[in-house]
Amino acid sequence: MSLPGAPHVAYRGADLFIDDVRLSDLAHRYGTPLYVYSRTAMLDALSAYQRALSGRDHLVCYAMKANSNLAVLQTFAAAGCGFDIVSAGELERVLAAGGDPAKVVFSGVGKTRAEMAMALDAGVLCFNVESEAELEVLSTVAVAAGRTAKVSLRVNPDVDAGTHPYISTGLKGNKFGVAHDRALATYRRAAALPGLEVEGIDCHIGSQITDSGPYLDALDRVLDLVEAVEAAGLSIRHIDLGGGLGITYTDERPPAADALIAALLARIDARGHGHRKVLFEPGRSLVGNAGVLLAEVLYLKPGEAKNFCIVDAAMNDLMRPAMYEAYMGIVACTRRDAVPQTMDVVGPVCESGDWLGRDRSLAVRPGDVVAVLSAGAYGMSMASNYNSRGRAAEVMVSGHEAWLVRDRETPAELFRGEHLLPAR
Ligand code: PLP
Repeated sequence: MSLPGAPHVAYRGADLFIDDVRLSDLAHRYGTPLYVYSRTAMLDALSAYQRALSGRDHLVCYAMKANSNLAVLQTFAAAGCGFDIVSAGELERVLAAGGDPAKVVFSGVGKTRAEMAMALDAGVLCFNVESEAELEVLSTVAVAAGRTAKVSLRVNPDVDAGTHPYISTGLKGNKFGVAHDRALATYRRAAALPGLEVEGIDCHIGSQITDSGPYLDALDRVLDLVEAVEAAGLSIRHIDLGGGLGITYTDERPPAADALIAALLARIDARGHGHRKVLFEPGRSLVGNAGVLLAEVLYLKPGEAKNFCIVDAAMNDLMRPAMYEAYMGIVACTRRDAVPQTMDVVGPVCESGDWLGRDRSLAVRPGDVVAVLSAGAYGMSMASNYNSRGRAAEVMVSGHEAWLVRDRETPAELFRGEHLLPAR
């Protein structure tokens, strides 16, 4: 029996497996907290995008902020993926994983001069520019480096993605992108500035979107602009529709990636733009359902108002519940024949916001291992060292095989680079 949204995570008898590997075995071998990913699940998710785009001039740029482990990047690079990056650090990871810089788009509202220079030097495909001020600085940096920066303007289509306010990015009040009514003037400015070459247009309206309506609305707004920009004598080579497709955490029913893309391509063709290259920047939908976070039950703490199940993973390992009140499924890795109890699953961190799940029905005892489901995206990549907790180890599974792809962080690693004051 597989679990919501995650066909690669399933019970066989009493035991929970990812691919053909028993999760409790991994917990015992590598310790907990432990992130575990299915490589097959990641490649299956990517192939839905690639299938829908085959026969088109296209590029899928994995938004690596969702999960930037080198083995994840290596997997996607080998499958032909490009990358959407938001920092020089992410660019260094792409290069270390064998990714092709010519398939990298550089997003983000606050790129520094040093980051621009490094990306120009590496030869990225384009800069997704988010403001007029950034355009001016990029021109200066490119001229100083004796290079041409290809630019795509990230436009803010003012479309409501219908998602959590913290992950909605395409509304007028958000910090992202160039306002729709300033876009034409900004393209003219880009064309006039030295060191820049207009390449494309992009938008990204938010994350965990479960309906195709907002995508189609944003696409129409983007195509209106493409037509206006070209009528002004500038040419746009590619259209980048960002990422944002949601996944199933519980009962969400997002469109399948191939169905969404088919609908978008049909609209692009119907409006006479079928000759253009199309880009997508999916993050969550490529990795979210491919991963779980394993934790050991430390204590059960019954109470008058609430029962607590205290586990060894915490908000520093997985921020989504604390940050967005996000629901993550939590199940036992070995099912027990016992009456389940309703309890809050919480971590050891000294914050009341440190919870992973509320009012969950679980039959577990101390020493058991639980799996937090759909934790492959914005899990490890958002982890911190709060409470001086080392970050979790990570394992990649494929079929029967499992590889440790990140060591557990040690306390000494945490304070490496800190200095005591001189003794008096
Ligand atoms: N592209 C940009 C510019 C983003 O900011 C993000 C995420 O916030 C993504 C792509 C990926 O979004 P998602 O993980 O929802 O697909």
